[in-house]
Amino acid sequence: AATVNEKPVRLEDVPATVEQVAAGDRDLGAVAAYVPDGGWPNDPYASGEHHYRSLRALLSGQLSADEVITALQDAGLRGMGGAGFPTGKKWELVRAAEGAVKYAICNADESEPGTFKDRQLLAEQPHLVLEGLLMGMLVTGAEEGWVFIRHEYGPEEAVLHSEIGRLREQGLIGPDVLGTGRRLMLDIFTSPGGYILGEETALLECMEGHRGEPRNKPPFPGNYGLWGKPTLMNSVETFADVPAIVARGADWWNAQGVNGATGLKFFAVSGHVERPGVYCVPMGTTIRDLIDVAGGVAGGAELEAVQPGGASSNFLGPEHLDVPLDFGTLAEAGSMLGSGAMVVMAAGTDALAAATNVLRFFRNESCGKCVPCRVGSTKAHDLLTDTLRSGGELDEARKARLLELELVLRKSSICGLGQVALGPVVSVLGRQRGGTTARPQPRN
Ligand code: SF4
Repeated sequence: AATVNEKPVRLEDVPATVEQVAAGDRDLGAVAAYVPDGGWPNDPYASGEHHYRSLRALLSGQLSADEVITALQDAGLRGMGGAGFPTGKKWELVRAAEGAVKYAICNADESEPGTFKDRQLLAEQPHLVLEGLLMGMLVTGAEEGWVFIRHEYGPEEAVLHSEIGRLREQGLIGPDVLGTGRRLMLDIFTSPGGYILGEETALLECMEGHRGEPRNKPPFPGNYGLWGKPTLMNSVETFADVPAIVARGADWWNAQGVNGATGLKFFAVSGHVERPGVYCVPMGTTIRDLIDVAGGVAGGAELEAVQPGGASSNFLGPEHLDVPLDFGTLAEAGSMLGSGAMVVMAAGTDALAAATNVLRFFRNESCGKCVPCRVGSTKAHDLLTDTLRSGGELDEARKARLLELELVLRKSSICGLGQVALGPVVSVLGRQRGGTTARPQPRN
């Protein structure tokens, strides 16, 4: 079993070359990061001496935009915000999109229950996030970029403001960056609040001053984004991964994964574990090992169920403990990597009540644009809460009604919220029947 490594590991700290990885300790504990309350001690990069070196290389011409895209494609980096779209391909599409004006946005509107890994990255390694965003702007040709941040993340927003000030002092943003003639403007947009604003097109509507409702897709933001212009949008973790991959190469990144997966992954682990927190582990780490890294199930209890990828992901039972945490195998197991938020439930937890709680969140956060999502989530929630409150069992007729509602929402909702709202409930019903109705979830 993995042991917790007391030395926190950051993207910058892990071995820099494939050779070093090969010579080093590949036990999971060597790269598992336990984040103590006091933050990261012994920060070797505290002086900032090494910050923004990939960005500087790109500005000076030592590194080309093609080389950056090739590195991202060779590394197979995928979006860490939930959708898992290949990052190199997205950058290439925005780069190739027609138009002189383009924008770039870092989506830091992290607000799904159980999700708090981006918060840690913003607080502790903001330079990596901003470096990735600025590199994305240079590669795609965007001159203006924003970090769209959840309004409750006040301390992290203050850290970002301070880091942007540092960038300005170093001449790395402004109308003529380092005398290269490149214009790079960076700002922060504070979300007015609302979970749905984390959906990329609702975010764009919000920034344009409209009601925050998702758009129908296509067109996608890469072609028709902010104010109708091609817009590069990635999550906090995705942008933070970029400088690490570019500085150390795709081979280094690929060597980090285990069980056939590649790279590193930040997880927010919460629920019934001994040490809830943010952990950086190799992609492909099993559910069992990640729970061990977080100190095991609280009180040494058996596992009832786990949601491996945030509130949108289907519940998996103890029979899935040895499933590797990566995009493909989790989908095959009937769930998804999603936002990298693992919620652990110990034996004795009422999984149906927990799934109903998740549904309540989605019902409350539905923007109301689509009738199936707005009405269907309320109907399903009423049906479940009536049954739970009366202490009764869900009869077959009610189960059939829930399955029907799930199908309607999944097929007819225009964004991911409605498409996945009933997935967790149905996954629990499937487990209660001794089988599984879980399946890979549609992505927005
Ligand atoms: Fe809004 Fe729900 Fe439709 Fe998404 S699926 S646009 S949240 S009503």
